[in-house]
Amino acid sequence: MPKGSVYLVGAGPGNPGLITVRAKELIESCDTLIYDSLVHPAVLALQKEKCEQIFVGKKSGCHSVPQAEIQSLIVAKAREGKLVVRLKGGDPFIFGRGSEEALFLRQEGVYFEIVPGITAAIGAGAFSGTPLTQRNSSSTLVIVTGHEDPEKPEISVDWANIPRVNSTVCVYMGISRLELIAASLMDAGFESDTAVACVEWATLGCQRVCRGSLGTICGDAKEFKLKSPAVIIIGENAGMGDEISWFESQPLQGRRFVVTRSQGQASELSEKLEKLGAEVIGLPLISISRNVNEQTRDDVFAELASYDWIVFSSPNGVRHFFDTFFEKFDDIRSLGFIRIAAVGKSTAKEISKFYVATDLIPEEANAESLADALVATESLDSAKVLLVTGNLGRDVLLKKLEEARAIVDRFEVYRTDPTDLSSDPAAKAFREQGADAILFTSSSGVKSFVDQAKDLVLSADAIRPKTVSIGPITSASMERLGVPRNFQAKEASLDSLVEELVRNFGKESN
Ligand code: SAH
Repeated sequence: MPKGSVYLVGAGPGNPGLITVRAKELIESCDTLIYDSLVHPAVLALQKEKCEQIFVGKKSGCHSVPQAEIQSLIVAKAREGKLVVRLKGGDPFIFGRGSEEALFLRQEGVYFEIVPGITAAIGAGAFSGTPLTQRNSSSTLVIVTGHEDPEKPEISVDWANIPRVNSTVCVYMGISRLELIAASLMDAGFESDTAVACVEWATLGCQRVCRGSLGTICGDAKEFKLKSPAVIIIGENAGMGDEISWFESQPLQGRRFVVTRSQGQASELSEKLEKLGAEVIGLPLISISRNVNEQTRDDVFAELASYDWIVFSSPNGVRHFFDTFFEKFDDIRSLGFIRIAAVGKSTAKEISKFYVATDLIPEEANAESLADALVATESLDSAKVLLVTGNLGRDVLLKKLEEARAIVDRFEVYRTDPTDLSSDPAAKAFREQGADAILFTSSSGVKSFVDQAKDLVLSADAIRPKTVSIGPITSASMERLGVPRNFQAKEASLDSLVEELVRNFGKESN
């Protein structure tokens, strides 16, 4: 990918799983990312660290950045030698002004490529169970804009000549003009009982579908409090949703959860929730980075063979330990014949990624149980233990092991810092939309949530979230810091947390 070039990339309809392989590759490797509203925060999070992200979409209540300004910005960044991704919701050539940007780039002599994306109508059709074409009922697909601004020089829509017979009509940007659109189509000869499905936030966990007919849809939409963004699908097939809808029946569909973990860590929980249909906002409250004192590292590595146990108290510890280890050694056997303990299953899973087995995992995933389980092995007397932690590691483990007469060396490999949320897209989404629940999975997560509460104040019409804790230690921290708790997972594990959510927020629970 040559520097100084521009990629006009479609980000798909919203669900982060629906971007193309090519889009992912480009987002991961670009230097500058220029993006609009409606691009999911999880897609933005794919970008490599320390890259420039520039938001040029509409800020609530404000006008968007003028198109000419966006175009100049893209060219300027390319001229700086940057690999620029211009990311747009859906497809760049469907109501996305991608063609204007491409023409300008050609005129300026800047190299560009265009990467298509799944446009909103295609996403809305699939995720609402509305086939946009069908052998027996729809042979024509119309994609049309409902937003006609007399102030703007766009060509107007010829509603009277929209194909009426055996067609499916998908209207973008039409919610504020729904009444006019329905009336124009009926004037043009569409029957008032023609089926209509309005798909709001299509493909996302918070997707809602308002179904009706041309004659009823205005009232239906009001009652439903239908809001933009939505695609209005009109035609016989729009009535098929009840027969082949699938997304809406997933247990957590329609729910939005906030995951409070550092970026890398959030993905496992997010994936589990998304598989059940939920929408996840990953609030990167904390950022985790490697933090190794070189002297300590050298001392530890010099004595590696003399340790009896190596104890990992978090998956982050595992990752940063092995990254540090493999910088020094190129063979796993340099670890020696050391016994390995992990605080819980997620930590053990991380260890297994390095093809190393864990010898001991306590019943409950916390420092006390880990210490008890180690003591129960009766192997600690005068044993050398390497305790791998972060800067916030609790002293409980160290104390208990020393009480059992072990010689413990603490090896700090990472640190936890608060993230700047004032400009973070996920935090912005949370402030605007709220969520059904905030999930706390660590004490440090609770602490940073409280510390950063000023950047997380919800807007007036945002959904007020409940709070869920992964286990007793996190719950205790919540209590100590004055965060009320609604639910706690039965066991301190991600799976148990997910079960708790299905129990309390799942479709069956209604
Ligand atoms: N280039 C985009 C369209 C941009 S115009 C694409 O190809 O999809 C913005 C309009 O797209 C919105 O008003 C709405 O009608 C539609 N839209 C975009 N994302 C949507 C989503 N997730 N659900 C429903 N409609 C969406």
